[in-house]
Amino acid sequence: MRELPSLFVSHGAPTVAVEPSPARDFLAGLGRSLPRPRAILCMSAHFETDQPTLTSGAHPATIHDFYGFPEELYRLRYPAPGSPELAEEAARLLREAGLVATLDPEAGFDHGTWVPLLLMFPEADIPVVQLSVQPHRDAAHHARIGRALAPLRRRGVLILGSGALTHNLAEVMARLRAGDGAGGPVAWAEAFARWVEDRIRSGDLEGLCRYRELAPEAVRAHPTEEHLFPLHMAAAAGGGRGVKLHESFAYGSLAMTVYAFPGLAVREAAQEAAKVV
Ligand code: ZN
Repeated sequence: MRELPSLFVSHGAPTVAVEPSPARDFLAGLGRSLPRPRAILCMSAHFETDQPTLTSGAHPATIHDFYGFPEELYRLRYPAPGSPELAEEAARLLREAGLVATLDPEAGFDHGTWVPLLLMFPEADIPVVQLSVQPHRDAAHHARIGRALAPLRRRGVLILGSGALTHNLAEVMARLRAGDGAGGPVAWAEAFARWVEDRIRSGDLEGLCRYRELAPEAVRAHPTEEHLFPLHMAAAAGGGRGVKLHESFAYGSLAMTVYAFPGLAVREAAQEAAKVV
């Protein structure tokens, strides 16, 4: 079986599912450019728990975990089956690595999981397991989770981290209030994104894990860390070295960046897919 890359996707606002944007177009082509996975394991920044937790139900519900958005978003469903088997397999790998792993048969898919998957795999016919982040833990903890799960890539599982490369909602709201939502990217978000890109291009996972002390504008880019931890998980699952597949900024500071680890073959295929769309 062909080894799959791990991916980090920035899921953006829930409206990415329905409104035209460069990130939406890119995600829609990305699914077609990958070998079809037997299952998907997605760490979502919106599934916050004390210990690593996996959805283990056979038919997880679609959760509309956002307020005040257009009505059509609340009608969207992502009816992909769950995979109790993959949840067990992943939990076993985490425990073998000395981590705690919990199964939750009741938990559903939040928009961190279903918005990108609705675009990437609209048929919703590939089984999905959602994995939680631990906001009170550090980046190294999430890298440990990714390393433990890496063997799944050889077993036909697509490992996906879903968060945001930069995520400061107060800055986004300020920009919208100023009526400048469509303007170009702000300097601090770009500076942070460039630093992360250098780490990923050189495979410096250790540096990436110390981003909070080393990166420019780290606290401004992530006042809270849960939206970046899926990147540490995905990078570690893919060996640390990766390729940027897409970058755009929504509302001036919300980076919609996508990475693959390792990723050269994926980038070529994604460029091909973009040509035929
Ligand atoms: Zn989010």
